[in-house]
Amino acid sequence: MSNKTSPIILAGTDGSLGRGPYKRLVLKNVTVIDGTGAPAYGPADVVIEKDQIRSINSAGRNTDLTQYGRVTDTDAEVLDLSGHYVLPGLIDSHAHIGFSHQGPSADYIYQLWLGHGITTVREPGAIVNGVPFTLNEAARSNANEITAPRIFTYSAFGAGRGEPFHTPKDAEEWVSAQADAGAAGIKFFGAPPEIFKAAVEEATRLGLATACHHAVSDVARVNALTTARWGLTSIEHGYGLPESMFADRRVQRFPASYNYNNEHDRFEQLGRLWREAAEPGSRVWDETIDELVALGTAMDPTLVVYVASRDAARARGREYHRDYTAPQAWQFFQPHPDTHGSYFTDWGTEQEVEWKENYRLWMTFVRDFYHRGGLLTAGSDAGFIYNLYGFGLIEELELLREAGLTALEVIQCATSNAATLLGRKDLGVVEPGKRADLLVTAENPLANLKTLYGHGHLRRQPDGSMARVGGVRYTIKDGIVFDAASLRANVRDMVTTERERLGVSEPYTR
Ligand SMILES: [Zn+2]
Repeated sequence: MSNKTSPIILAGTDGSLGRGPYKRLVLKNVTVIDGTGAPAYGPADVVIEKDQIRSINSAGRNTDLTQYGRVTDTDAEVLDLSGHYVLPGLIDSHAHIGFSHQGPSADYIYQLWLGHGITTVREPGAIVNGVPFTLNEAARSNANEITAPRIFTYSAFGAGRGEPFHTPKDAEEWVSAQADAGAAGIKFFGAPPEIFKAAVEEATRLGLATACHHAVSDVARVNALTTARWGLTSIEHGYGLPESMFADRRVQRFPASYNYNNEHDRFEQLGRLWREAAEPGSRVWDETIDELVALGTAMDPTLVVYVASRDAARARGREYHRDYTAPQAWQFFQPHPDTHGSYFTDWGTEQEVEWKENYRLWMTFVRDFYHRGGLLTAGSDAGFIYNLYGFGLIEELELLREAGLTALEVIQCATSNAATLLGRKDLGVVEPGKRADLLVTAENPLANLKTLYGHGHLRRQPDGSMARVGGVRYTIKDGIVFDAASLRANVRDMVTTERERLGVSEPYTR
């Protein structure tokens, strides 16, 4: 808001908000949804020793019989969780630690994430806060010095270089320096093909992941299928996919007045993109999906960050804004030509109708990709377009459900699939030997994903009143137990404090 302050957000501060890890912790009488796509089972006791799941003892399925019956209430910390569900901690595969114009502090963002059961995030780009800041936060989170999810830091291609890449060798050297600095991957937007290809291949050689937002400005030269063939790890958003399936053109039909730097133009025309591609079920459509699946390229669609385009009023009026959206974020969301993603300067029925059709086609592609064996993940890209941290990932789960996956399949995308994307065999599954990164909820998310929202789900009670139910109860990371409701209460307090400090009235109506 003020240009005098650093755009870099205040770093995380407090590592003492959780309890544990424990020598032994038992989550008693729970139903397990393990994240692999296996159906729920229970009642079960999940036994955690320090930061690891030691065993899961269930009446019909004892994964470690030597432990069964040996756990007594005297030698372990026991949480009696009858009626609760235990899932792997969620992984937001496209999550930015916002900068100071998007929230008051990293604590605000971290507690929104953990308050929604998110125990791991992938930070593709670390653009405003920078890679050194983000790597430092990642290290502090790994050491549990701060209350934050695990952070996987990707460097934005070319960041810190100060001049364009002149040769493929320049690109390879830059990639190598990112590996030395400790980055987990490289985030691309597009580049001249020979430079781009060299960078992707060098990253792969060095064991770094690669992710690309195929910017409209570069996609005529390099689309999603091009980069997949080079070995790209993941396709972010939907850009570059329709362009891989153009049958009767090479470049989208832009109006003569189109200006890429005008975000109203950019997002309006993006809403017309999928209809220009080959139709669902056509030969080109099917072959494209089959090739992406065969190449092992992951897809991280972040459906939620564009959903305001099909119903701007709904996104602006999301129920959570009242209590959870900090004034900085709200200001950042307001239509303005200089603020990324704030393109609703004159957004009407025509744009929304186009986007509804765009979503129908895009979601069909997402569903078909998943059904044919593609590695599909869930990411929120929160911090932009009225889409808030934590809440955004839960909405992404609902949108994947809308795309045609079942809730069980959706949870697989946000847990074990994401762990596969990160190359982490120890995350994303509730199973002995895995890290104790878990989400505990009193409601069945398979029946209603809305119960995972921090503000819960509105349900009529026997006495006729309406009440909010659900919300994640505990988030466990490395065996450390966080009371998710109290983290969310902290967030609400931060929002109140910031509104008072900045003199912003609430609610944000105009
Ligand atoms: Zn992003």
